[in-house]
Amino acid sequence: MNMNTRNRETALVVFSGGQDSTTCLLWALKRYREVVAVSFDYGQRHREELACAKEIAQQLDVEWHVLDMSLLNQLAPNSLTREGISVDQEAPEEGPPNSVVDGRNMLFLTFAAVFAKQRSITDLVTGVSQSDFSGYPDCRDVFIKSLNATLNLAMDTTFCIETPLMWIDKADTWRLAQELGGLELVKEKTLTCYNGVRGDGCGHCPSCTLRRKGYEEFLARYRKDEV
Ligand code: ZN
Repeated sequence: MNMNTRNRETALVVFSGGQDSTTCLLWALKRYREVVAVSFDYGQRHREELACAKEIAQQLDVEWHVLDMSLLNQLAPNSLTREGISVDQEAPEEGPPNSVVDGRNMLFLTFAAVFAKQRSITDLVTGVSQSDFSGYPDCRDVFIKSLNATLNLAMDTTFCIETPLMWIDKADTWRLAQELGGLELVKEKTLTCYNGVRGDGCGHCPSCTLRRKGYEEFLARYRKDEV
């Protein structure tokens, strides 16, 4: 296939097994004939994350791959990978949380693109969001556009990085999961919690707080009449 033409039949989803990427996986399944998911093993403390991704991919009958990114842990030890560094239990007043791994999305998307090209896949789907970027600079739209241009130049390919969640908040991400028929799946099967607890999570880490707040806003915004 000529890689200077966008392949609209197939998508590769960068998939962690969390709320956002699972919603993106459901989104891709509605739009593409074939969907492939890729997860990254970067020595995350919660091995549960990969088990979770695998189960969801199986349940949705999606081809799933894991790429070894242990290099990331070697480059930038952080609270998600090292036992000795505890995860901030509250979001810091300024600056990114200590769970930030510099360049993580950039690396994931770049490796995903190399993998995709081998399969003649040009559409990459990622759950990054500028509305909710929580201090991760490589989740912003300007970065995604910049990386898209860079990947095209680097591999002489017409990649298209799709970001269905870029401009929506957590409440609307729940709404999107509902529209895609996956609200229960996302609520029960995904893992977002920094302490490795599936579904509603531990309830007190910054990630659980954000998730619960988004869900409550979703209920308030869209389900007033259904309660
Ligand atoms: Zn938690």
